[in-house]
Amino acid sequence: MNQLQERELKSQRMEELRRRRILERKREIARKKKRKKLIRKVLISMLLFFAATATIVLCVLLFDTIIKDASSRKTPVATQVEYTQQNSEDVVEEPIEKKEEQKIIVDDSIEYKDETKEERYASYKKQNPHFSDEEIIWRVNANLDKPKYEYDIPVSGYDDPYIIVNKYYKVPDGYHPPDLKSFDGQLLREETGNAYKKMREDALKQGLNIRVVSGYRSVEYQRGLYNRYLSNDSRENVDRYSARPGYSEHHTGMAMDIFGSQDGLRNFENTPEYPWVRDNCYKYGFIIRYLVETEDITGYESEPWHLRYVGTKVSTEMKEKNIKSFEEYHAKYLQ
Ligand SMILES: [Zn+2]
Repeated sequence: MNQLQERELKSQRMEELRRRRILERKREIARKKKRKKLIRKVLISMLLFFAATATIVLCVLLFDTIIKDASSRKTPVATQVEYTQQNSEDVVEEPIEKKEEQKIIVDDSIEYKDETKEERYASYKKQNPHFSDEEIIWRVNANLDKPKYEYDIPVSGYDDPYIIVNKYYKVPDGYHPPDLKSFDGQLLREETGNAYKKMREDALKQGLNIRVVSGYRSVEYQRGLYNRYLSNDSRENVDRYSARPGYSEHHTGMAMDIFGSQDGLRNFENTPEYPWVRDNCYKYGFIIRYLVETEDITGYESEPWHLRYVGTKVSTEMKEKNIKSFEEYHAKYLQ
């Protein structure tokens, strides 16, 4: 090969190499452009996505605010009342205009309403919206709006045939009715004892046998009894079945516990004497003083064996009017 041909060949190779480099650079530029384009696309997509999300969140928040605002504007007396009733233990401060609306009006036509107790009626009615006006009035008259054992009203005295002794009316130490006599070995006031004697005789004619096992008790005696119970049981429990000294109806000599043909107070309800006494004792002036349905009034659980002499006028009226507790009768007609 001559020199000329060699140079020609070299120059051709150089030319080939140069073309390849140019081609390579063009491809490199094209790749870079493509990558940049892709990155731009991705960035734009992300930006759009964030913008859309932000718009949605903003809309939701705005909508929520509008709804809340609207519902708070119509927060309503009715809804608020429902709420307070459902959560009576929670103290819910009522709006001022609502307090105005809810002024308590207790029916003026009720005969045993006592004008000096207006405020107590109103506040008791507010606490017990489920009671009728009639119930509000007699319950407040019976002091049921006051705490038991703290109100301590002195009892009316020996001359009152309708004396009431309960967790509000307390007899003083040394209280001793004047005309106590022994019946079945228990002390009762004369009129009470005579009524009992007649009831016992009529029961006997039916083949039924009742006898008094506890009549008059002094305050001192009751103190011993109550404290004995207290040594074995909680005060809350004892208060449901035993009177504190001074608060027992047995102090009056006009209350008695009776046995039927089977001994034991708790057995009395299961004796044939019980239904007869329950249905007939009013004819002799007696009432069964503590019933299941009067526990929230008297504070004592049911005692079918504990009778109180109130005289036939009151016992008959209570039966006719279906008045279950002496507290209710007393609050309505004897104050
Ligand atoms: Zn008793």
